[in-house]
Amino acid sequence: ERFRHDYLEVRGLHVEFDGFVAVQSVDLTVVQGELRFLIGPNGAGKTTIVDAITGLTRASGSVRFGGTELLGRKTHKIARAGVGRTFQTASVFEELTVLQNLDIAAGAGRGPLTLLRQRRGVPEPVEQALETIGLAHLRDTRAGILAHGQKQWLEIGMLLVQDARLLLLDEPVAGMSQAEREQTGLLLQRVGEQRTVVVVEHDMEFLRSFASSVTVLHMGSVLSEGTYAQVQADPRVQEVYLGA
Ligand code: ADP
Repeated sequence: ERFRHDYLEVRGLHVEFDGFVAVQSVDLTVVQGELRFLIGPNGAGKTTIVDAITGLTRASGSVRFGGTELLGRKTHKIARAGVGRTFQTASVFEELTVLQNLDIAAGAGRGPLTLLRQRRGVPEPVEQALETIGLAHLRDTRAGILAHGQKQWLEIGMLLVQDARLLLLDEPVAGMSQAEREQTGLLLQRVGEQRTVVVVEHDMEFLRSFASSVTVLHMGSVLSEGTYAQVQADPRVQEVYLGA
């Protein structure tokens, strides 16, 4: 099993901004083939954790992926170690087609040979990603005219063809229609079966249909962890969400 050791191990993660502690002693273990939700009210520290894992924010503690320490590395080195992320606003090449976007992502870091590939047809990983993200029928559509949800899926597809083995997705269903949310749910489940996926979400409702485990953050610390049903029944979680 090539990816058996693709697990994320966060230990004692700590992030401060000018003396303000945004993330405090966070431990998080996510194994390969697991889809983990990271939830919590605004300001809980979710995005800061993702920023720390991807090298965008200075942090102390330890973040290991597949046994490799990521803290202190530059963002591009972390990306090359197989870590990919999306942001709340999708960043795709609007002037290029869906297929061209994926082809560029597939070739990232592999030099100009990518361009030659187009003559030899669509590479298998790109074809697979098109199927996974449900955009095979829109392969020749310019990304700029895709619906909001479709752009988010394309961005996830770009991570897939880049061979990201740890995907960190920041509120992927924000701004989506109900139909798009349901499709995104299926997409996340498919991707989560093979790779290590962490999804930042603040909407508890979206998690309901997943069997995945949920980590609840509050004021920079882990408040609760378990299945959706378990964390929902946790009085501390209810207090934070309902202000009870
Ligand atoms: P969440 O993603 O859970 O909404 P964030 O990780 O964005 O929360 O923020 C956690 C806390 O850290 C918040 O109080 C936020 O104001 C603070 N914070 C985040 N980024 C910075 C920054 N660059 N400088 C100062 N404070 C920040």
